[in-house]
Amino acid sequence: MNWKDALLKIDFQQNTRLRFGEPLAKHTHFGIGGETTAYVEVNTIDDLATLTHFHREWKVPVAIIGKGSNLLVSDKGFNGISIRLIGELANLDIEGNIVIVGAGQSLPRLSKMMSKTGLSGVEFALGIPGSVGGALIMNAGAWGSSFGDVVTDVTVMRDTGELIKLTHDEAQFEYRHSGLEAYFCVISATLKLQPGDVDAITTHMNTLFKQKIETQPFVEENAGCMFKNPPGDSAGRLIDISGLKGHRIGGAEVSTVHGNFILNLDNATANDVLDLVAYIQKHVQEKTGIFLQTEVKRLGFD
Ligand SMILES: Cc1cc2nc3c(=O)[nH]c(=O)nc-3n(C[C@H](O)[C@H](O)[C@H](O)COP(=O)(O)OP(=O)(O)OC[C@H]3O[C@@H](n4cnc5c(N)ncnc54)[C@H](O)[C@@H]3O)c2cc1C
Repeated sequence: MNWKDALLKIDFQQNTRLRFGEPLAKHTHFGIGGETTAYVEVNTIDDLATLTHFHREWKVPVAIIGKGSNLLVSDKGFNGISIRLIGELANLDIEGNIVIVGAGQSLPRLSKMMSKTGLSGVEFALGIPGSVGGALIMNAGAWGSSFGDVVTDVTVMRDTGELIKLTHDEAQFEYRHSGLEAYFCVISATLKLQPGDVDAITTHMNTLFKQKIETQPFVEENAGCMFKNPPGDSAGRLIDISGLKGHRIGGAEVSTVHGNFILNLDNATANDVLDLVAYIQKHVQEKTGIFLQTEVKRLGFD
């Protein structure tokens, strides 16, 4: 029996959905990428634990996909199982100013819910179109705030199916990075937010969102900032002074609004994007002496 037949035999709980040959372009904000062999929307912790055992038994590669807003998938796709967290894994529980949120929950939705509840700390997140899991892995942030700042602990699953709770320090949050990638899957986080006035929090959230859509491209397909900001500088500024805004390779173009965004303007391939990334890195280094590190994660490349 091959692993696809074996996967079909698993008796998943209700609402966990399995499909084969799913185009990952549909599940990324870039709108780029080939098919994943199998795609599972996992509804429960038990089903996720079952998949850890399957992954080890059949030695099948597994990728956890959040909202795909920081992901470039290769044109040939991903030869393995792509997992997305839904249902029980996207729960939201609020007790006073303590919030337990599942990794599958949407970050903008969390931001809106917290403003309506009168809890401050995630106003910056309305304009970040990821999941809570992706925001924990990336320590997503904006306007001087990062998601890790409000996190007190994180629950992760090992590839044995075992759940463990990590403290804030054990999660090792850094600029657009955390130590959570070492685990099979991020399950949930506990947040400690500050009680405040609903109107003031909502106004603050909306102001930050407005500033974002005025200064960054929001309509065209992209994966957010392509490069990390080097210490004390901004990747967008370096790309701008290197004269690269508007530079195009195939269907991929450096945004004319913000140089750190690469847009999929005309059926760009993943190779177009990577060629443009390499072009930017080369020219920025020649012009400024700084080598830009990429922020966007890759899936399905050798
Ligand atoms: C228009 C736009 C604006 C953006 N603005 C910002 C911004 O202001 N600040 C910022 O920081 N980012 C920004 N981003 C990037 C992106 O939204 C964030 O990095 C976000 O946190 C990614 O979350 P995601 O769920 O989409 O992760 P994905 O892109 O799906 O995945 C990113 C990585 O996290 C892993 N992952 C996701 N969920 C889990 C999980 N539960 N367990 C284990 N691994 C997991 C994936 O395997 C992958 O390696 C922007 C993106 C877009 C498209």
